[in-house]
Amino acid sequence: MKNEMRVEFDSISANEAFARVTVAAFMTQMNPSMEEVADVKTAVSEAVTNAIIHGYEGEVHKIVITGCIEDEWLTLCVEDQGIGIEDVEKAMEPLYTTRPELERSGMGFLFMEAFMDEVQVDSEPGKGTAVTMKKRIVQRED
Ligand code: ATP
Ligand code: MG
Repeated sequence: MKNEMRVEFDSISANEAFARVTVAAFMTQMNPSMEEVADVKTAVSEAVTNAIIHGYEGEVHKIVITGCIEDEWLTLCVEDQGIGIEDVEKAMEPLYTTRPELERSGMGFLFMEAFMDEVQVDSEPGKGTAVTMKKRIVQRED
């Protein structure tokens, strides 16, 4: 069975918590472990923070999260229509950041890749960025 959702919200930092809680609520039906929920919340939080500070550079515009549950796979996509990324491969390198002055450490994509099974970044300068992340939620006996 397939289940899809979509939420759209303003790119303000107060909505980072909203995004985390929303995806956690959506994935509850998959009977995840606490650790799996924590992993997904962290990954989504990193992607949303990136959209707010890098994509929109602090301006307030819309961020869209779409989610899909299909069998044991959770797919989440965090999208902005901000400045986009010139070189995605480089941006995803550990410790690479374009905002060291904001005390950014260039760890966001690393966390997303560590906590999710698959991370794909589609971006075009001037158009925006879509980060698609997949995680397999293991079915446990309980
Ligand atoms: P940290 O996440 O550790 O605070 P960071 O955000 O700079 O630091 P990453 O999350 O790994 O590190 O992102 C790396 C770089 O990719 C960013 O510095 C930025 O240049 C670019 N980037 C990431 N997401 C976006 C986005 N949504 N729009 C535009 N640029 C982005
Ligand atoms: Mg980041």
